[in-house]
Amino acid sequence: MPDAAVAARSSDSTNSGTTQQVDVAVVGAGFAGLYLLHRLRKAGFSAVVIEEAGDVGGTWYWNRYPGARCDIQTIDYSYTFDSELESAWQWSEKYATQPEILRYLGFVADRYELRRDIRFRTKVTAANWDQSAERWRLTTDNGAGISCRTYIMATGCLSAPKPPEIDGVKDFKGEIYFTGRWPHDEVKLAGKRIAVIGTGSSGIQSIPLLAEQAAHLTVFQRTPNFALPAHNGPAPAERRALLEGDRTTYREQARWSLAGVPYPQQMAVSWQLSDAERRERFEQAWATGDLVYILTQLWADQGVDVNGNALLADLIREKIRDVVKDPETAEALTPHDHPFGAKRPCLDTNYYATYNRPNVTLVNLRQEPITEITASGIATDKRNFDVDVIVFATGFDAMTGAIMAVHPITGRDGKSLSDVWANGPQTYLGLTVSGFPNLFMITGPGSPSVLSNMAVSIEQHVDWVVDRLAAMREAGFTTIDATETAQAGWAQHMADCSMMTLHRLANTWYTGANVPGKAQGVMPYTGGVGPYRSICNEVVGRGMLGFKLSGPDVAEQCNDGEVVRLQPDVRLVLGMLVEMNLPQIEQLGAQGARDFLTEFNKGRPAGRPVGEVGDGVLHGADGLLSYRLYRPATPGPHPIVVYFHGGGWVLGDEQSDDPFCRDICRRSGMIVVSVGYRHAPEHRFPAAAEDGYAATRWIAEHAAELGGKPGPVLVAGWSAGANIAAVTCQLARDRGGPQIAGQLLICPVTDCRFDRPSYTDNAVGYFLTRSMMFWFCDIYCSPADRTDPRASPLRGNLANLPPALVATCEFDPLRDEGIEYAEAMAAAGVPVEQLQARGHIHTSLMMVDVVVTGVSGRAKMAEALRGFAGLPRKLEASGEEASPIAVNAAAG
Ligand code: NAP
Repeated sequence: MPDAAVAARSSDSTNSGTTQQVDVAVVGAGFAGLYLLHRLRKAGFSAVVIEEAGDVGGTWYWNRYPGARCDIQTIDYSYTFDSELESAWQWSEKYATQPEILRYLGFVADRYELRRDIRFRTKVTAANWDQSAERWRLTTDNGAGISCRTYIMATGCLSAPKPPEIDGVKDFKGEIYFTGRWPHDEVKLAGKRIAVIGTGSSGIQSIPLLAEQAAHLTVFQRTPNFALPAHNGPAPAERRALLEGDRTTYREQARWSLAGVPYPQQMAVSWQLSDAERRERFEQAWATGDLVYILTQLWADQGVDVNGNALLADLIREKIRDVVKDPETAEALTPHDHPFGAKRPCLDTNYYATYNRPNVTLVNLRQEPITEITASGIATDKRNFDVDVIVFATGFDAMTGAIMAVHPITGRDGKSLSDVWANGPQTYLGLTVSGFPNLFMITGPGSPSVLSNMAVSIEQHVDWVVDRLAAMREAGFTTIDATETAQAGWAQHMADCSMMTLHRLANTWYTGANVPGKAQGVMPYTGGVGPYRSICNEVVGRGMLGFKLSGPDVAEQCNDGEVVRLQPDVRLVLGMLVEMNLPQIEQLGAQGARDFLTEFNKGRPAGRPVGEVGDGVLHGADGLLSYRLYRPATPGPHPIVVYFHGGGWVLGDEQSDDPFCRDICRRSGMIVVSVGYRHAPEHRFPAAAEDGYAATRWIAEHAAELGGKPGPVLVAGWSAGANIAAVTCQLARDRGGPQIAGQLLICPVTDCRFDRPSYTDNAVGYFLTRSMMFWFCDIYCSPADRTDPRASPLRGNLANLPPALVATCEFDPLRDEGIEYAEAMAAAGVPVEQLQARGHIHTSLMMVDVVVTGVSGRAKMAEALRGFAGLPRKLEASGEEASPIAVNAAAG
């Protein structure tokens, strides 16, 4: 239906008695509610929007404090659903002011004649699911109740202001304002003594303007925040040209980006850049004045690794010290308690410089907490501050506040949403809650929401919901409810995602920490806008996976399950590999496959620096073999780990697992010697196995020359390399040495058979395929050789082997034989630890700085190696790791 026709048509709701009957009721007439109403009408649903305010605008209606602006560039913070609307409106500034954004939303409401279906100055006071009628019954504080099939919360994430939480507010005789509920009439502040409590985005935007008017401004700061200069002005011409040059591509890139703004994934990692290069990037970002840019574009590890993040945070701290003249004030304004970006950073105009004004005082509440508000002002435990005005910029009960606290919502079987969410929000996709049929949330907890450009996330949610409602109507379904399995799976996926970024390391409103007594946990989805969109699409593509659909005249439908079982970064990697349309390795021939692997490895992040990397040759079973040695930066001698690379006995060499060897060297504080053993088909079984044993013996005998600690060595390997490591342990036991203190077997081949369930479950789709393993085994050894314990160590004698850590991955054809080997060794009396990596694939643990969710696994491996060597299991100052494919996003 053309948009003009939609505008001319209002929703066809009916009043039965005192109840308004509609298909859909929506709460909130902000960005989300307005677009929702438009789309619902266009799809032929009758709809009403209930809005507490006197007009449209949502957050932009209420937050009228001085200095209120958006801090995502306005050309990105706009509706994109109608190109005519886009052409009809021109933003005047890079970051539009609150009045301009409110005018825009009013313009949108007029253009599509939305106001006539909005009930202003009305609050929903209760919402109950009526099971027999399969409808929601709403009561309101203004006019008729509402009966609707579908109830949608478009309430925004930051719309329930937090109470002051300070004693004595009622005693204050002066004026009190909340930034989140700023009066509509002019507030006269000139010449007054003003206090501001709070230094989040609202405080930081308003403080410079309040300081210009005040006789004196006193800022009460509990926690300093990172703020970056906005460099506001006209919308940058370059960006505008980019948008106008190809609007469709620009918008599409935003939809599939990580933060909802079309910036690419940054690939360079901090340790590949020199100090000067990092500073240059930083200065350029500082001059750009763009939150998403500085949050995502400097280096790939800035948002996911504490060390990479600290490099950036230090540069920002330097800027604060440069601007603020009084060193004590500068120090008080400098954040040290959270990684940059883990708490929502702010964009400012003259914020830090404001503290150089003679009429501005900063009170550090960490040193002198507020004790009470008195009739004349604010008392700390050290001083009294007499003021005329107090501005509370103390924030919101974010994400859940407006949904849960505003009115009781009662779902199936009388379940209350407050009870269901007592320990934190539980949702499926951040869109629905199991047990609350036909209830949707726009940008709810569990969706990218505040970690994205809200405009992009809102459109995605609205489109998804309205498209689903239309499809249900078409199919005769009248109710939709998420299953508990799907919801629990989403909670697990959320938890997995939260391990990829640093948000979990800060106490913020993202985690509920700003509201006393609120359940704690990262509430927004940290996996990124594009990945989230693809998951929502996947749910639809898989027959509404995780939803129960029913209707009076159709059979119930329920494809139950969890939409994402892979770790989030593994899912991204697999998606990228699919897009690369890689050849089937087993069809390339051995040399073709080797060439392919060499090329493929060129694209991965280089490993991190270690003390020294050196190459040499050692004696194998039948001649010289190359090796590469990785030495820690710490003083030696260090224990030695003999490492065997993966590659199915056919591919790879002593350098092909380079990032992993560096990582394990750094984490364990040990020398790693990676051995270039002989490969099939040139050298078939038992060449690789015998080389493994001979190399280990040679390295043990030459430990001192290699700078290592004489005595027992350790062995480690991945995949076919783990097979060689396991075999080496058996041969060393049977052939009188060398002494091996421990074995680390990562995804080992232990039995050349292909009939275990993991071979069937994970035959294709997880990088290492069943047919690739067939091919490797065929090249390496004949069927008759496969019963030899040097090919299939599971068939050997497992008693008296060195202690082992066996790591297996859930989505790996080799999973079951690895677990069986661990269990069999344990049964034979060998001390064995197992690491079963949930949601991982065969290559996960090797993909250093790509699969960040593999970090904890590698940390455990290093600890186990240290334990085998008789060292304290934890190496001091090991730090957190980075993943260039995960990113820290911004909010808008
Ligand atoms: P906020 O970020 O939660 O900041 C609240 C501030 O008040 C914090 O400094 C907090 O200190 C302090 N505070 C809270 N309770 C306090 C108490 N009892 N005593 C002393 N200090 C107290 O809230 P906000 O500034 O309103 O911003 C919320 C979010 O809204 C932002 O992060 C942003 O996403 C969005 N926002 C966006 C814009 C924009 O785009 N333009 C503008 C404004 C807001 P602690 O840190 O110690 O808790």
